[in-house]
Amino acid sequence: MVSRVIPVDPFDLVIFGATGDLARRKIIPGLFHRFAVGQMPAGARIIGAARSEMNHEAFLKLIEDSLKEFVPKSAEQSAQIAAFLKSLRYVCIDATGEAGWRELGEHLRPETVRAFYLSVSPTLFGAIADNLSTHGLTTPQARIVVEKPFGRDLASAKALNADLSRVFDEGQIYRIDHYLGKETVQNLMVLRFANALWEPLWNSTHIDHVQITVAESLGVEGRGEYYDRSGAMRDMVQNHLMQLLCLTAMEPPSRFRPDAVRDEKLKVIEALDPVAPDSIARGQYRAANGEGGYRDHAGDPQTLTESFIAMKVNVSNWRWAGTPFYLRTGKKLRARTSEIAITFRDPPHMIFPKLEGRRGNALIIRLQPDEGITLRTTIKEPGPGGMRVVEAALDLTFADAHGPDVEAQDAYERLVMEVIRGDQTLFMRGDEVEAAWAWVDPIIRGWEETRERPALYDAGSAGPEDALMLLHRDGRRWRDLEP
Ligand code: NAP
Repeated sequence: MVSRVIPVDPFDLVIFGATGDLARRKIIPGLFHRFAVGQMPAGARIIGAARSEMNHEAFLKLIEDSLKEFVPKSAEQSAQIAAFLKSLRYVCIDATGEAGWRELGEHLRPETVRAFYLSVSPTLFGAIADNLSTHGLTTPQARIVVEKPFGRDLASAKALNADLSRVFDEGQIYRIDHYLGKETVQNLMVLRFANALWEPLWNSTHIDHVQITVAESLGVEGRGEYYDRSGAMRDMVQNHLMQLLCLTAMEPPSRFRPDAVRDEKLKVIEALDPVAPDSIARGQYRAANGEGGYRDHAGDPQTLTESFIAMKVNVSNWRWAGTPFYLRTGKKLRARTSEIAITFRDPPHMIFPKLEGRRGNALIIRLQPDEGITLRTTIKEPGPGGMRVVEAALDLTFADAHGPDVEAQDAYERLVMEVIRGDQTLFMRGDEVEAAWAWVDPIIRGWEETRERPALYDAGSAGPEDALMLLHRDGRRWRDLEP
């Protein structure tokens, strides 16, 4: 199977923060990949903007070096890189200053789709939006793209929304959650809403519980100070895990339109019960095997920030009452793995001998590594030993299903193209983000009041003991984290 490339219209894309890590590692390599597969039209312009004073040639050199570093097959693509670089320009702008805006305007074409990608600190969002407006650079078709973190609590998220909405309508604002750009995450919607098979089973009558795991094997080395200001709850749960929960739990939208999908996601967040402290396990990894612990990496020997969180969440609506969602995410765990596992209830009456350790039917949607879908079923053990039953997996690995010709598309490149196309389905709406913060805020405030240190866990483990107990006391267990 060969993937279909649908070309987009010519565009002017301004990347604020074009000299930064995210732009050089993800956004610009993603654009290059779209160019290489023929999706980026000849007339497209990418205008880098940052504070550093550098001329056009120096910027091209910086980007060429970044492509060589971050694009896997760049050595074989030098002609394409040279052609791609022709679409790049550079403007030196301090977001909070006066210089550079006029020059930026000279690169923008009046009738062309224009998008401003803010790959800079959120503290600059307001200044950039205001300057774009003051200097007459916005048009009704203009789009603004903003990176995470979108606030650190409800008040700051509201302030950011206010900053952006002074200049842009909600229909022009694209809040990135790169999890929504992942192939498997989008497949979750197709799996649910394009197959009649699942819908009758997709409720608390048939589903025992859901586990959503985003586990990382790396710690916070090198970015500990940044991470320590957020922690797992703000960095992962409020956005990425919440989005996965919403897509799993939401009602079928009436149409596949941005607001129809986002309305349904918002309803899920609004249906979440407040979480009691005993339904949450927080952890911090400790030093082991000569490697530093979280406190060493965070640069604060007293920090109370969590590097792990597990929680039991109830979605209080007709579909899900009685089916808990267990969320877990953390650093320095046994494996790097992200998945959504839907465990079904047992058959009402079992006529075969009870299988030792039987875990029941489950649908596992793997986001990484090895993207795909597995259905765990019960079958007869082969051979003449009587009617003994065993568990077996019906396995769909996307790489196998689609063949080697379908190149993996990074979440960022997909999302940037969606911005150019003007499709907001894969971006968070302002009210969604605020609702997620409104749910998370009281939990974080509770920790700030009690000032308890998170439970310690060993690097390379499955997290703290409390997290295991969270399921054990409900008669369930976490899925193994398989390296
Ligand atoms: P970074 O490496 O520190 O780069 C920051 C960029 O912002 C640089 O290009 C810098 O330009 C520019 N900048 C800083 N102050 C400016 C100003 N006053 N006016 C104009 N430009 C200014 O940061 P990053 O890692 O790329 O992250 C950028 C944003 O993406 C942050 O909000 C971050 O939270 C978010 N994000 C990053 C990642 C990631 O993997 N890096 C992942 C998700 C989200 P000069 O160097 O020229 O000063």
